[in-house]
Amino acid sequence: MWIGIDDTDSPAGMCTTYIGAILVQQLEHAGMRILDTRLVRLNPNVIHKTRGNAAIAIEAEGDTEAAFALACTCVEALAEFGAAGTNPGVVVSRIRPPQDFYYAALRDFCTVDEAIGVLDSVGARYRGYKNRRGLIGATAAIASEFPDRTYELLVYRKRERWGTLRQVDARSLFCAEEETYPHTWDTVDRENNVVVCAPHTPDPVLFGIRGESPAAVREARSHVRSEEPACEQVYTTNQGTDAHLVPGTAGKLREGRSYLVRGTVAKPPVTGPGGHVSLLLADDGEEVRCMAYEPTKGFRDVVRELVPGDMVAVTGSYKGGSLNLEKLGISRLADALRIRPPICPACAKRMTSAGTRKGYKCRVCGARSREPEVERVERLLRPGWYEVPPTARRHLARPLVRGVPVWEESMRQSNRE
Ligand code: ATP
Repeated sequence: MWIGIDDTDSPAGMCTTYIGAILVQQLEHAGMRILDTRLVRLNPNVIHKTRGNAAIAIEAEGDTEAAFALACTCVEALAEFGAAGTNPGVVVSRIRPPQDFYYAALRDFCTVDEAIGVLDSVGARYRGYKNRRGLIGATAAIASEFPDRTYELLVYRKRERWGTLRQVDARSLFCAEEETYPHTWDTVDRENNVVVCAPHTPDPVLFGIRGESPAAVREARSHVRSEEPACEQVYTTNQGTDAHLVPGTAGKLREGRSYLVRGTVAKPPVTGPGGHVSLLLADDGEEVRCMAYEPTKGFRDVVRELVPGDMVAVTGSYKGGSLNLEKLGISRLADALRIRPPICPACAKRMTSAGTRKGYKCRVCGARSREPEVERVERLLRPGWYEVPPTARRHLARPLVRGVPVWEESMRQSNRE
Protein backbone atom coordinates (compact mmCIF):
# COMPACT_ATOMS: atom_id res chain seq x y z
CA MET A 1 0.00 0.00 0.00
CA TRP A 2 0.92 3.63 -0.38
CA ILE A 3 0.48 6.18 2.40
CA GLY A 4 0.63 9.91 1.59
CA ILE A 5 0.74 12.91 3.94
CA ASP A 6 0.99 16.63 3.31
CA ASP A 7 0.42 20.11 4.70
CA THR A 8 1.09 19.54 8.38
CA ASP A 9 3.45 22.38 9.20
CA SER A 10 3.47 26.16 9.56
CA PRO A 11 6.27 28.74 9.61
CA ALA A 12 6.12 28.39 13.42
CA GLY A 13 6.99 24.68 13.47
CA MET A 14 6.68 21.05 12.44
CA CYS A 15 7.71 19.39 9.17
CA THR A 16 5.80 16.79 7.19
CA THR A 17 8.99 14.72 6.77
CA TYR A 18 9.25 14.46 10.58
CA ILE A 19 5.69 13.11 10.78
CA GLY A 20 6.72 10.65 8.06
CA ALA A 21 9.71 9.52 10.12
CA ILE A 22 7.55 9.02 13.22
CA LEU A 23 4.91 7.17 11.21
CA VAL A 24 7.57 4.83 9.79
CA GLN A 25 8.52 3.88 13.36
CA GLN A 26 4.89 3.28 14.28
CA LEU A 27 4.13 1.20 11.19
CA GLU A 28 7.20 -0.94 11.88
CA HIS A 29 6.17 -1.25 15.51
CA ALA A 30 2.78 -2.51 14.30
CA GLY A 31 4.60 -5.22 12.31
CA MET A 32 4.36 -3.64 8.86
CA ARG A 33 7.24 -3.77 6.40
CA ILE A 34 8.46 -0.48 4.93
CA LEU A 35 9.46 -0.74 1.27
CA ASP A 36 10.14 2.90 0.40
CA THR A 37 9.95 6.33 2.00
CA ARG A 38 9.65 9.25 -0.41
CA LEU A 39 10.11 12.97 0.00
CA VAL A 40 8.24 14.37 -2.98
CA ARG A 41 8.78 17.99 -3.99
CA LEU A 42 5.89 19.54 -5.90
CA ASN A 43 5.43 22.77 -7.88
CA PRO A 44 7.76 25.26 -6.14
CA ASN A 45 5.49 28.13 -7.23
CA VAL A 46 2.33 27.26 -5.30
CA ILE A 47 1.45 30.14 -3.05
CA HIS A 48 0.15 27.99 -0.18
CA LYS A 49 3.45 26.28 0.53
CA THR A 50 5.09 26.75 3.91
CA ARG A 51 8.65 26.30 2.69
CA GLY A 52 9.70 23.86 0.00
CA ASN A 53 6.35 22.30 -1.03
CA ALA A 54 7.21 18.81 0.10
CA ALA A 55 4.86 15.89 0.65
CA ILE A 56 5.74 12.40 1.79
CA ALA A 57 4.80 8.91 0.64
CA ILE A 58 5.48 5.62 2.37
CA GLU A 59 5.24 2.29 0.58
CA ALA A 60 4.49 -0.47 3.07
CA GLU A 61 3.12 -3.97 3.39
CA GLY A 62 0.30 -4.47 5.86
CA ASP A 63 -3.29 -3.75 6.70
CA THR A 64 -4.56 -0.53 5.06
CA GLU A 65 -7.14 0.21 7.77
CA ALA A 66 -4.51 -0.08 10.51
CA ALA A 67 -2.08 2.06 8.53
CA PHE A 68 -4.71 4.71 7.84
CA ALA A 69 -5.63 4.86 11.56
CA LEU A 70 -1.97 5.20 12.55
CA ALA A 71 -1.31 7.91 9.94
CA CYS A 72 -4.36 9.95 11.03
CA THR A 73 -3.43 9.63 14.72
CA CYS A 74 0.11 10.75 13.93
CA VAL A 75 -1.06 13.79 11.95
CA GLU A 76 -3.68 14.70 14.56
CA ALA A 77 -1.05 14.54 17.31
CA LEU A 78 1.68 16.48 15.53
CA ALA A 79 0.31 18.79 12.79
CA GLU A 80 0.09 22.54 13.40
CA PHE A 81 -3.71 22.61 13.35
CA GLY A 82 -3.80 26.06 14.94
CA ALA A 83 -2.11 27.71 11.94
CA ALA A 84 -4.51 29.20 9.40
CA GLY A 85 -2.56 27.88 6.40
CA THR A 86 -2.19 24.30 7.67
CA ASN A 87 -4.70 21.93 6.06
CA PRO A 88 -3.45 18.36 6.44
CA GLY A 89 -4.25 15.51 4.10
CA VAL A 90 -3.81 11.77 4.70
CA VAL A 91 -4.34 9.13 2.02
CA VAL A 92 -3.85 5.36 1.90
CA SER A 93 -4.31 3.30 -1.24
CA ARG A 94 -3.55 -0.21 -2.43
CA ILE A 95 -3.61 1.04 -6.01
CA ARG A 96 -1.31 3.86 -7.01
CA PRO A 97 -3.15 6.79 -8.57
CA PRO A 98 -2.22 7.64 -12.18
CA GLN A 99 1.16 9.35 -12.50
CA ASP A 100 -0.49 12.17 -14.44
CA PHE A 101 -1.66 13.61 -11.16
CA TYR A 102 1.89 13.68 -9.82
CA TYR A 103 3.12 15.50 -12.93
CA ALA A 104 0.22 17.96 -12.73
CA ALA A 105 1.06 18.79 -9.09
CA LEU A 106 4.79 18.94 -9.86
CA ARG A 107 4.57 21.18 -12.93
CA ASP A 108 1.18 22.84 -12.75
CA PHE A 109 -1.67 23.61 -10.34
CA CYS A 110 -4.35 21.24 -9.05
CA THR A 111 -7.56 21.53 -7.04
CA VAL A 112 -8.78 19.57 -4.03
CA ASP A 113 -11.69 18.27 -6.12
CA GLU A 114 -9.28 16.91 -8.70
CA ALA A 115 -7.34 15.11 -5.96
CA ILE A 116 -10.55 13.64 -4.54
CA GLY A 117 -11.61 12.50 -8.02
CA VAL A 118 -8.29 10.67 -8.39
CA LEU A 119 -8.53 9.12 -4.91
CA ASP A 120 -12.09 7.89 -5.53
CA SER A 121 -11.05 6.41 -8.87
CA VAL A 122 -8.55 4.10 -7.11
CA GLY A 123 -10.74 3.39 -4.07
CA ALA A 124 -8.33 5.10 -1.66
CA ARG A 125 -8.99 5.81 2.03
CA TYR A 126 -8.44 9.49 2.69
CA ARG A 127 -9.05 12.26 5.21
CA GLY A 128 -8.67 15.95 4.51
CA TYR A 129 -8.60 18.25 7.52
CA LYS A 130 -9.88 21.86 7.56
CA ASN A 131 -10.05 23.01 3.91
CA ARG A 132 -8.47 19.65 2.86
CA ARG A 133 -5.81 21.24 0.62
CA GLY A 134 -3.22 18.76 1.88
CA LEU A 135 -5.01 16.04 -0.09
CA ILE A 136 -3.45 17.49 -3.25
CA GLY A 137 0.12 16.92 -2.11
CA ALA A 138 -0.67 13.63 -0.35
CA THR A 139 -2.29 12.25 -3.52
CA ALA A 140 0.53 13.50 -5.76
CA ALA A 141 3.09 11.92 -3.40
CA ILE A 142 1.60 8.43 -3.71
CA ALA A 143 1.17 8.90 -7.48
CA SER A 144 4.82 9.92 -7.90
CA GLU A 145 7.23 8.18 -10.24
CA PHE A 146 10.93 8.94 -10.12
CA PRO A 147 12.67 8.16 -13.42
CA ASP A 148 15.62 9.95 -11.82
CA ARG A 149 16.05 10.02 -8.04
CA THR A 150 18.33 11.18 -5.28
CA TYR A 151 18.38 10.60 -1.52
CA GLU A 152 18.20 12.75 1.56
CA LEU A 153 19.07 11.66 5.06
CA LEU A 154 17.17 13.85 7.49
CA VAL A 155 18.26 14.12 11.11
CA TYR A 156 15.65 15.37 13.61
CA ARG A 157 16.01 17.20 16.90
CA LYS A 158 14.76 16.16 20.31
CA ARG A 159 11.46 17.82 21.08
CA GLU A 160 12.82 19.87 24.00
CA ARG A 161 15.27 21.54 21.61
CA TRP A 162 12.78 22.63 18.97
CA GLY A 163 13.00 26.38 18.48
CA THR A 164 16.43 26.68 20.13
CA LEU A 165 19.73 27.38 18.35
CA ARG A 166 20.95 24.28 16.46
CA GLN A 167 24.23 22.80 17.64
CA VAL A 168 25.86 21.43 14.50
CA ASP A 169 29.62 21.70 14.12
CA ALA A 170 30.17 23.62 10.89
CA ARG A 171 33.70 22.25 10.43
CA SER A 172 32.37 18.69 10.52
CA LEU A 173 29.86 19.61 7.78
CA PHE A 174 32.63 21.01 5.58
CA CYS A 175 34.59 17.81 6.28
CA ALA A 176 31.53 15.65 5.38
CA GLU A 177 31.26 17.50 2.07
CA GLU A 178 34.97 17.18 1.34
CA GLU A 179 34.99 13.45 2.08
CA THR A 180 31.90 12.55 0.05
CA TYR A 181 31.51 15.16 -2.73
CA PRO A 182 30.51 14.61 -5.57
CA HIS A 183 28.45 11.69 -4.21
CA THR A 184 26.73 14.16 -1.86
CA TRP A 185 26.14 17.86 -2.50
CA ASP A 186 24.72 21.02 -0.96
CA THR A 187 25.76 20.19 2.59
CA VAL A 188 27.74 23.44 2.52
CA ASP A 189 28.39 26.17 -0.04
CA ARG A 190 32.17 26.25 -0.31
CA GLU A 191 32.27 29.25 -2.62
CA ASN A 192 30.26 31.41 -0.23
CA ASN A 193 31.50 29.64 2.95
CA VAL A 194 27.98 28.94 4.23
CA VAL A 195 26.32 25.89 5.80
CA VAL A 196 23.37 24.95 3.60
CA CYS A 197 22.04 21.72 5.11
CA ALA A 198 20.77 23.05 8.47
CA PRO A 199 17.63 25.20 8.48
CA HIS A 200 17.16 28.30 10.63
CA THR A 201 13.43 27.73 11.14
CA PRO A 202 11.89 26.41 14.38
CA ASP A 203 11.03 23.00 12.89
CA PRO A 204 12.28 19.57 14.07
CA VAL A 205 14.93 19.20 11.31
CA LEU A 206 18.50 19.35 12.60
CA PHE A 207 20.16 18.91 9.20
CA GLY A 208 19.72 16.99 5.96
CA ILE A 209 22.34 15.42 3.70
CA ARG A 210 21.61 15.06 0.00
CA GLY A 211 23.31 12.59 -2.25
CA GLU A 212 23.19 9.99 -4.99
CA SER A 213 22.72 6.89 -2.82
CA PRO A 214 21.67 5.90 0.71
CA ALA A 215 25.26 4.76 1.29
CA ALA A 216 26.69 8.15 0.25
CA VAL A 217 24.40 10.17 2.51
CA ARG A 218 25.07 7.82 5.43
CA GLU A 219 28.81 8.12 4.87
CA ALA A 220 28.58 11.94 4.89
CA ARG A 221 26.34 11.86 7.95
CA SER A 222 28.94 9.81 9.86
CA HIS A 223 31.32 12.82 9.71
CA VAL A 224 28.87 15.26 11.28
CA ARG A 225 29.19 16.24 14.94
CA SER A 226 26.08 17.78 16.50
CA GLU A 227 23.67 17.88 19.42
CA GLU A 228 22.16 14.47 20.16
CA PRO A 229 19.43 13.80 17.57
CA ALA A 230 16.02 12.28 18.20
CA CYS A 231 15.84 10.13 15.08
CA GLU A 232 16.86 9.92 11.42
CA GLN A 233 15.21 8.94 8.18
CA VAL A 234 16.55 8.36 4.67
CA TYR A 235 14.13 9.44 1.96
CA THR A 236 14.12 8.67 -1.75
CA THR A 237 13.42 12.00 -3.45
CA ASN A 238 12.90 13.84 -6.73
CA GLN A 239 15.15 16.62 -5.42
CA GLY A 240 18.03 17.59 -7.68
CA THR A 241 16.45 16.02 -10.78
CA ASP A 242 14.97 19.00 -12.69
CA ALA A 243 11.67 17.07 -12.72
CA HIS A 244 9.78 20.38 -12.50
CA LEU A 245 11.02 21.62 -15.91
CA VAL A 246 9.19 21.45 -19.21
CA PRO A 247 10.40 22.82 -22.55
CA GLY A 248 9.11 26.35 -23.10
CA THR A 249 9.17 29.02 -25.79
CA ALA A 250 9.52 32.78 -25.29
CA GLY A 251 6.12 34.44 -25.56
CA LYS A 252 4.26 31.26 -24.57
CA LEU A 253 5.33 30.84 -20.94
CA ARG A 254 2.64 30.47 -18.28
CA GLU A 255 2.82 31.98 -14.83
CA GLY A 256 3.90 29.59 -12.05
CA ARG A 257 5.42 26.89 -14.30
CA SER A 258 9.10 26.04 -14.64
CA TYR A 259 10.83 25.81 -17.99
CA LEU A 260 13.84 25.19 -20.14
CA VAL A 261 13.90 28.00 -22.70
CA ARG A 262 16.33 28.70 -25.52
CA GLY A 263 17.08 32.11 -26.91
CA THR A 264 19.59 34.69 -28.03
CA VAL A 265 20.71 37.48 -25.76
CA ALA A 266 18.87 40.55 -27.07
CA LYS A 267 20.46 43.37 -25.03
CA PRO A 268 23.37 43.79 -22.62
CA PRO A 269 22.29 42.51 -19.16
CA VAL A 270 21.31 45.24 -16.71
CA THR A 271 22.11 45.32 -12.99
CA GLY A 272 19.20 46.93 -11.14
CA PRO A 273 18.57 48.09 -7.58
CA GLY A 274 19.62 45.55 -4.96
CA GLY A 275 22.07 43.92 -7.36
CA HIS A 276 19.44 41.97 -9.29
CA VAL A 277 20.54 41.23 -12.85
CA SER A 278 18.03 41.27 -15.69
CA LEU A 279 18.65 39.52 -19.00
CA LEU A 280 16.50 39.82 -22.11
CA LEU A 281 16.35 36.79 -24.41
CA ALA A 282 14.78 36.75 -27.86
CA ASP A 283 13.52 33.83 -29.87
CA ASP A 284 11.56 33.96 -33.10
CA GLY A 285 10.40 37.55 -32.58
CA GLU A 286 9.33 36.99 -28.97
CA GLU A 287 11.19 38.07 -25.84
CA VAL A 288 11.49 36.75 -22.30
CA ARG A 289 13.02 38.58 -19.34
CA CYS A 290 15.21 36.43 -17.09
CA MET A 291 16.28 37.43 -13.59
CA ALA A 292 19.30 36.50 -11.47
CA TYR A 293 18.47 37.87 -8.03
CA GLU A 294 20.98 38.99 -5.42
CA PRO A 295 20.96 35.65 -3.48
CA THR A 296 22.38 33.94 -6.58
CA LYS A 297 25.65 35.74 -5.72
CA GLY A 298 28.54 34.96 -8.12
CA PHE A 299 26.18 33.46 -10.71
CA ARG A 300 25.19 37.05 -11.53
CA ASP A 301 28.74 37.71 -12.74
CA VAL A 302 28.27 35.01 -15.39
CA VAL A 303 25.00 36.60 -16.52
CA ARG A 304 26.63 40.04 -16.63
CA GLU A 305 29.31 38.71 -19.01
CA LEU A 306 26.75 37.83 -21.69
CA VAL A 307 26.56 40.04 -24.77
CA PRO A 308 23.91 40.44 -27.48
CA GLY A 309 24.03 37.55 -29.90
CA ASP A 310 25.09 34.89 -27.38
CA MET A 311 23.01 31.75 -27.81
CA VAL A 312 21.84 30.26 -24.54
CA ALA A 313 19.43 27.88 -22.84
CA VAL A 314 18.04 28.82 -19.43
CA THR A 315 16.05 27.00 -16.76
CA GLY A 316 13.85 28.45 -14.05
CA SER A 317 10.35 29.31 -12.89
CA TYR A 318 8.27 31.88 -14.70
CA LYS A 319 6.91 34.21 -12.02
CA GLY A 320 5.66 37.77 -12.15
CA GLY A 321 6.40 37.95 -15.88
CA SER A 322 10.04 36.89 -15.72
CA LEU A 323 12.00 33.67 -15.57
CA ASN A 324 13.96 33.27 -12.33
CA LEU A 325 17.21 31.67 -13.40
CA GLU A 326 18.35 28.35 -11.95
CA LYS A 327 20.84 27.36 -14.67
CA LEU A 328 22.30 28.91 -17.78
CA GLY A 329 23.80 26.98 -20.69
CA ILE A 330 25.84 28.82 -23.28
CA SER A 331 25.88 27.09 -26.65
CA ARG A 332 27.53 29.79 -28.77
CA LEU A 333 29.37 32.97 -27.84
CA ALA A 334 28.98 36.00 -30.09
CA ASP A 335 31.88 38.31 -30.88
CA ALA A 336 32.01 41.07 -28.29
CA LEU A 337 33.04 44.32 -29.96
CA ARG A 338 34.19 47.56 -28.36
CA ILE A 339 33.52 50.56 -30.60
CA ARG A 340 35.47 53.73 -29.74
CA PRO A 341 36.65 56.94 -31.46
CA PRO A 342 39.88 56.23 -33.39
CA ILE A 343 43.39 57.43 -32.45
CA CYS A 344 44.51 60.52 -34.42
CA PRO A 345 47.35 59.38 -36.77
CA ALA A 346 49.10 62.76 -36.42
CA CYS A 347 48.87 63.39 -32.64
CA ALA A 348 48.44 59.80 -31.33
CA LYS A 349 45.60 61.12 -29.13
CA ARG A 350 42.11 59.58 -29.07
CA MET A 351 39.66 61.60 -31.13
CA THR A 352 36.23 62.57 -29.84
CA SER A 353 32.81 62.38 -31.43
CA ALA A 354 32.15 65.23 -33.82
CA GLY A 355 28.39 64.91 -33.29
CA THR A 356 25.66 62.52 -34.37
CA ARG A 357 26.60 60.90 -37.69
CA LYS A 358 29.46 63.39 -38.13
CA GLY A 359 32.30 61.00 -37.37
CA TYR A 360 35.23 61.90 -35.12
CA LYS A 361 37.48 64.88 -34.67
CA CYS A 362 40.93 65.37 -33.12
CA ARG A 363 40.77 68.04 -30.44
CA VAL A 364 44.51 68.75 -30.86
CA CYS A 365 45.00 69.13 -34.62
CA GLY A 366 41.43 69.16 -35.94
CA ALA A 367 41.90 66.07 -38.11
CA ARG A 368 38.72 64.17 -38.92
CA SER A 369 37.82 60.51 -39.39
CA ARG A 370 34.59 58.75 -40.25
CA GLU A 371 35.58 55.26 -39.07
CA PRO A 372 35.53 54.27 -35.40
CA GLU A 373 38.03 51.89 -33.85
CA VAL A 374 36.45 48.46 -33.58
CA GLU A 375 38.13 46.15 -31.13
CA ARG A 376 37.27 42.54 -30.49
CA VAL A 377 37.07 42.01 -26.74
CA GLU A 378 38.24 38.70 -25.31
CA ARG A 379 35.32 36.75 -23.83
CA LEU A 380 35.85 35.53 -20.28
CA LEU A 381 33.00 33.03 -20.54
CA ARG A 382 33.25 29.62 -22.15
CA PRO A 383 30.38 27.62 -23.66
CA GLY A 384 28.84 25.22 -21.14
CA TRP A 385 26.50 25.21 -18.19
CA TYR A 386 26.53 27.53 -15.20
CA GLU A 387 24.35 27.29 -12.07
CA VAL A 388 23.33 29.27 -9.01
CA PRO A 389 25.34 28.43 -5.85
CA PRO A 390 24.05 25.83 -3.35
CA THR A 391 22.72 28.58 -1.04
CA ALA A 392 20.34 29.74 -3.78
CA ARG A 393 19.49 26.37 -5.29
CA ARG A 394 15.89 25.20 -5.43
CA HIS A 395 15.16 21.73 -4.07
CA LEU A 396 14.17 20.35 -7.48
CA ALA A 397 17.01 21.93 -9.47
CA ARG A 398 19.53 19.38 -10.68
CA PRO A 399 23.05 20.35 -9.57
CA LEU A 400 25.65 20.23 -12.34
CA VAL A 401 27.69 17.87 -10.19
CA ARG A 402 25.11 15.21 -11.14
CA GLY A 403 26.26 15.49 -14.73
CA VAL A 404 25.50 17.73 -17.64
CA PRO A 405 21.82 18.50 -18.17
CA VAL A 406 19.87 16.17 -20.39
CA TRP A 407 19.74 18.83 -23.08
CA GLU A 408 23.49 18.71 -23.63
CA GLU A 409 22.93 16.76 -26.83
CA SER A 410 20.71 19.46 -28.26
CA MET A 411 23.18 22.13 -27.12
CA ARG A 412 25.85 20.35 -29.15
CA GLN A 413 23.42 20.27 -32.01
CA SER A 414 23.07 24.05 -31.98
CA ASN A 415 26.86 24.40 -31.77
CA ARG A 416 27.19 22.51 -35.04
CA GLU A 417 24.63 24.63 -36.88
P1 ATP B 1 5.16 20.79 4.53
O1 ATP B 1 6.43 20.42 5.19
O2 ATP B 1 3.99 20.87 5.44
O3 ATP B 1 4.85 19.84 3.42
P2 ATP B 1 5.50 22.76 2.50
O4 ATP B 1 6.35 23.93 2.27
O5 ATP B 1 5.83 21.56 1.75
O6 ATP B 1 5.37 22.30 3.98
P3 ATP B 1 2.70 22.73 2.58
O7 ATP B 1 2.45 23.20 3.96
O8 ATP B 1 2.63 21.29 2.30
O9 ATP B 1 4.11 23.30 2.11
O10 ATP B 1 1.74 23.53 1.63
C1 ATP B 1 1.60 23.25 0.27
C2 ATP B 1 0.12 23.09 -0.04
O11 ATP B 1 -0.07 23.24 -1.43
C3 ATP B 1 -0.41 21.73 0.35
O12 ATP B 1 -1.71 21.88 0.83
C4 ATP B 1 -0.43 20.96 -0.97
O13 ATP B 1 -1.44 19.97 -1.01
C5 ATP B 1 -0.72 22.08 -1.94
N1 ATP B 1 -0.14 21.84 -3.25
C6 ATP B 1 1.02 21.22 -3.56
N2 ATP B 1 1.24 21.24 -4.89
C7 ATP B 1 0.16 21.87 -5.43
C8 ATP B 1 -0.21 22.18 -6.77
N3 ATP B 1 0.58 21.86 -7.79
N4 ATP B 1 -1.38 22.83 -6.97
C9 ATP B 1 -2.15 23.19 -5.93
N5 ATP B 1 -1.86 22.92 -4.64
C10 ATP B 1 -0.71 22.27 -4.40
